[in-house]
Amino acid sequence: MVDLDSLQVIRNSVEEFASELEPYAQLIDRENRVPDDILARVAEMGYFALRVPEEYGGPGLSLLESVVVVEELARVSSAVAIMATVSGSMVPYPLVHYASEDLKREYLGRLAEGKIGAFALTEPCCGSDAAALMTRATLEGGEYVVDGEKVFITNAPYADFFIVAARTGRPEDRHRGISLLVVDKGPCVEVSKLEMMGYRGSGTSLVRFNECRVPKENMIGEPNTGFKKVMMTLNEGRITTSATGLGIMQAAFDDALEYARQRESMGKPLVEHQMVQYMLAEMKVLLETSRLLVYTAAEKLDEGAEDLPLYSSMAKLHTAKAGVDLVRMAMQILGGTGYSKDSRVERLYRDIKMIEIGDGTNEVQRMVIVKSLLGKIRVQ
Ligand SMILES: Cc1cc2nc3c(=O)[nH]c(=O)nc-3n(C[C@H](O)[C@H](O)[C@H](O)COP(=O)(O)OP(=O)(O)OC[C@H]3O[C@@H](n4cnc5c(N)ncnc54)[C@H](O)[C@@H]3O)c2cc1C
Repeated sequence: MVDLDSLQVIRNSVEEFASELEPYAQLIDRENRVPDDILARVAEMGYFALRVPEEYGGPGLSLLESVVVVEELARVSSAVAIMATVSGSMVPYPLVHYASEDLKREYLGRLAEGKIGAFALTEPCCGSDAAALMTRATLEGGEYVVDGEKVFITNAPYADFFIVAARTGRPEDRHRGISLLVVDKGPCVEVSKLEMMGYRGSGTSLVRFNECRVPKENMIGEPNTGFKKVMMTLNEGRITTSATGLGIMQAAFDDALEYARQRESMGKPLVEHQMVQYMLAEMKVLLETSRLLVYTAAEKLDEGAEDLPLYSSMAKLHTAKAGVDLVRMAMQILGGTGYSKDSRVERLYRDIKMIEIGDGTNEVQRMVIVKSLLGKIRVQ
């Protein structure tokens, strides 16, 4: 059972920063960019290194604690929150669990200093079918030459380095021919920022690696063992991405409740009309069931539970669907005001849809859930 009281301390610690961030949230969305001074503050708070262990200079938060931080950030800006999940959780995961001590010292150390990391898996050819990826890493002397194109990569314009999934085996080897490498941002890395519908400002980009040469020691673990590492990383990523959904849902719920209290129609506040009450009650249930499932999944990861993939995917699927429903109802309660570009709910409505797509679509989560039930997925 999740101890909600102990998490309140962490929640309170983020609140002050969240109120500092709030005035910039609409600007970040409109300009599709996080201002440099805000980036510097996020780094100073340690949010780009959430899961970096203390021995490497990071805050060393548990996943459950990180979820609460991300949730609170997303209540204000989902862009900043998703940046923190990628750099602070998905990037550290393979380094902490599978990298050599030298790689850990170097790259976890950089995150702890406030540098930003990105996780590059998806390609124009293939997202759900990650085992088909085409970016190549070819061993030449003491170096790997990384060449290929990645798409929808969060953090890319701000990143200091990338964790890259690349093919080191034959295409027909599919998941058995994939490795994970660390590639520094440099002249060989071309980043083209995309105009996305939501999470604007998080730097979602097309990234081209033009024959980037990296020392062979930059490989994380053994060659051709990267796919399982990616899948394990996604177990964590799905939980932290869901946490951004929780923050979005909370913000939409707060706005709808506030509006329903103040706005009058037919002689009484909206909140006294039964059909509006119905929506508010549904929204609260969607929010709290999502929160419990996400927290439970985070605890499963922290405890190293065998059924982690099941819970991670259930949390992601439920939060995605519940989130889209909740924010749609919030906009309904706000009426035309909600549909205006000046309303926060308009941004939340665009943002929440991403949870049904990023880190594996709803359909992929259903596949993982069923494979888990059939005992075809093991935690390693
Ligand atoms: C804002 C944003 C940020 C992102 N950040 C990152 C990032 O930092 N790093 C990264 O690597 N990726 C990132 N992604 C990419 C994301 O993970 C992919 O978009 C996602 O995995 C889906 O892949 P796809 O877009 O190629 O869709 P596709 O795989 O082409 O799927 C298209 C549709 O077909 C369905 N489908 C596919 N295969 C099947 C099947 N076998 N059975 C049933 N239905 C199927 C899918 O569910 C979906 O509905 C991000 C995406 C977004 C939108």
